[in-house]
Amino acid sequence: MSRLLTDLPGPALATTLTAESIIVLPVGSIEHHGPHLPLSTDLIMADELSRRIVEASPLDVWLLPPLAFTKSDEHDWAPGTVWIGWETLMRTVVEIGDSIAATPARTLVFYNGHGGNIALLQVALREIRRRTGLRTFLMSASVPAGETEAGFGIHGGHGETSLIMALRPDLVHLTMTERWVPDHLAEFEQVKFNGGPVAFGWVSNDFGPSGVVGDPTTANLAEGEALLAASVAQGVAALDEISRFRHSPGAQL
Ligand SMILES: [Zn+2]
Repeated sequence: MSRLLTDLPGPALATTLTAESIIVLPVGSIEHHGPHLPLSTDLIMADELSRRIVEASPLDVWLLPPLAFTKSDEHDWAPGTVWIGWETLMRTVVEIGDSIAATPARTLVFYNGHGGNIALLQVALREIRRRTGLRTFLMSASVPAGETEAGFGIHGGHGETSLIMALRPDLVHLTMTERWVPDHLAEFEQVKFNGGPVAFGWVSNDFGPSGVVGDPTTANLAEGEALLAASVAQGVAALDEISRFRHSPGAQL
């Protein structure tokens, strides 16, 4: 049976979905990923991983078609990046929330493939919950940094390139890979990319002309396949917890 929500006829939706149903919106991006990866890298990750996770889950989970164009303005200097501003994306996801609230389902999950969307989607979780009462969650595809990346494998690097080798090997150009890691930032303990005490603003060509932040030269298919299997298993476990999560004990959906 198809798990794509939009394959259902409209009237069947009302009798097929229940309050227990979970709706997943894949959120990708179209953006420059260096000379070795396609512009659609984050869209492929969001679309392919979420589909595999939903198909592997025993729960009543349904997929929406993916959002391709999102907030990838940190790559706006690179032709081929196709982005929408934060106001447009916020309004889009909030109004998708309004539409989902009109169905019997009470849970909306973003499955995000692009780091630049995370802060905005976290704000949207509360906005949609406040407006509609839906239970809202954000899951993100994540790739570990490679050993030669000093923790900076955040864009087009080892993990992301390995994963696309597993998902779409026809779109990876390994002869074009080049290491581009901001090694000088490793000494900073307070000011860090993510999760440190001090965050900073950046666009991707702040770190070098290629726009890549990471080391794709170490990417390989075996790690990509292992990462794919681990991502699907983690996503299935996350959906299981989401289905059982209640903000207060015994709360009704
Ligand atoms: Zn990416």
